[in-house]
Amino acid sequence: MAIRTGEQYLKSLDDGRSVYVDGRRVEDVTTYPAFQGVLRTLAGLYDAQHDPELADVLTVADPRTGQVHSTTLLEVHTLDDARTRLRCDRLRTDLTYGMMGRLPDFMNAYLLDIRSSLLHAGKEREAARLGDYLERLRREDLAVTHTLVDPQSDRSTTDAPPEAVHVVERRADGMVVSGARLLSTLAPVANEVFVGPYVPRRTGQEDYALAFTLPLATDGLKIVCRQAYDRGDGLFDTPLSGRFDEGDAILIFDEVFVPSDRIIVDGDLAAYNAVVGGAAGYGPLQGAARSTAKLRFLTGLATVAARATGRAGSPRYQEEVGELVGLLNVAEGLLDAAALDLHRRIETRRLGADAPVPGPGEPAVESRVGISALTFFFPHAIAKAVEVLRLVAGSGAIAMTEGDLRHADIAHLVEAYVHGPDVPAERRLQVMRMVWDATSSPFAARQALYERYYTGDPIIGRVLFFNSPKTSEAERMAERLLADGAR
Ligand SMILES: Cc1cc2nc3c(=O)[nH]c(=O)nc-3n(C[C@H](O)[C@H](O)[C@H](O)COP(=O)(O)OP(=O)(O)OC[C@H]3O[C@@H](n4cnc5c(N)ncnc54)[C@H](O)[C@@H]3O)c2cc1C
Repeated sequence: MAIRTGEQYLKSLDDGRSVYVDGRRVEDVTTYPAFQGVLRTLAGLYDAQHDPELADVLTVADPRTGQVHSTTLLEVHTLDDARTRLRCDRLRTDLTYGMMGRLPDFMNAYLLDIRSSLLHAGKEREAARLGDYLERLRREDLAVTHTLVDPQSDRSTTDAPPEAVHVVERRADGMVVSGARLLSTLAPVANEVFVGPYVPRRTGQEDYALAFTLPLATDGLKIVCRQAYDRGDGLFDTPLSGRFDEGDAILIFDEVFVPSDRIIVDGDLAAYNAVVGGAAGYGPLQGAARSTAKLRFLTGLATVAARATGRAGSPRYQEEVGELVGLLNVAEGLLDAAALDLHRRIETRRLGADAPVPGPGEPAVESRVGISALTFFFPHAIAKAVEVLRLVAGSGAIAMTEGDLRHADIAHLVEAYVHGPDVPAERRLQVMRMVWDATSSPFAARQALYERYYTGDPIIGRVLFFNSPKTSEAERMAERLLADGAR
């Protein structure tokens, strides 16, 4: 199969999975009204792989087998490979306006990261199992989601609570697990799930130190979704919710059987913990491409909104949007740097002890550009862009609906009173509905929360950075001058 069409993707979801939304069991996600927008968007991406104008960017041929697969599954060996991935990440996130944080692309990248971390830690057997899974994804072009975080039943400790996913029975042909994980974005419309590490586990927690994959349609696996944001209001009124609501769910494993060939890590703490914080940078590159696309889209929307109200000529608004353009320039530089960084790390890991020792004028410790950009730059840049949008649109974002625009009683009045400078009411309203969906709708509120937690808990992220070798490199520099001053 190798690359699927949108139709094949949609058909594959009618698989009897247990999905619950709004207190109801969804019998078939492919016909559930609130998922139609995101399904169309994802199916469109699958179809795009067959578009002759895009196929060279979105797909690659495996040199070993000749089999064509998604570029998002390309393993990086050379800098050219990293740039090939970047081109694809850029195109796919551009096609989705940076609005979907968990395109299947993210998991393809993330699984490559995990395999690289396992290899780097000398965990060949686990890396080989994940390698087999990645081969399967190349053959079958599946959409994978993930779920890493333990339930919030006791945050006084980072140890797994009893409610977390754990082994309840080991069998000759696999294991049975129970417990929950949160959240799993894309779960209602993905094919498979990866359950894996987020915080390190310590001795005694082996039954909770698990990494495995499963089809989402597995007996005992319940996909309990938050309320959907696409309420069927149409694309004029909800242009973002109506296209990009990727869904979030808590996954509950109620005595779920995981066959042996699906288990990647079972109780090996060294393998489990090696994955935490050890990414080569595939996932961060994809995430940075997504965030850059979103920043570009929001910057563009702020400009369009400023023109729709006549504010675009005012220095106050030019200055605000100008700052966004500056942030966008930085983002694009970070993106290129993240691709370079990914290749450099892979090369350093490949060379091991033979890697060149940094000389004068070179950083002594590797940078982690992609993940740093995602954790520290993009959440602020995107929050700033949303704030500028609010400022530009003012009360305009609290917009009436298309129904009012078309209502026979008031259509002529709306046309007469709700236009902009040389901007008809319909166009102004269309812009403002988009601003509302980007700043103020339930979809927008979820996006804001998601940007904050995109790379997990920002506090844990900061502590991981504090404990990284970069801190010592910086500290040594300060000590050098201190030592110099004391002589
Ligand atoms: C929209 C959305 C989508 C998500 N999608 C996915 C997904 O697809 N896959 C996945 O695995 N996870 C996903 N997550 C989960 C995400 O990784 C978690 O939200 C994140 O790890 C934080 O965990 P938590 O939400 O349980 O917050 P908690 O761990 O309960 O923390 C709550 C708050 O307390 C703060 N805090 C923590 N420690 C301290 C401290 N010592 N002092 C003061 N404050 C502290 C945290 O920074 C946080 O702000 C998603 C989350 C959201 C919101």
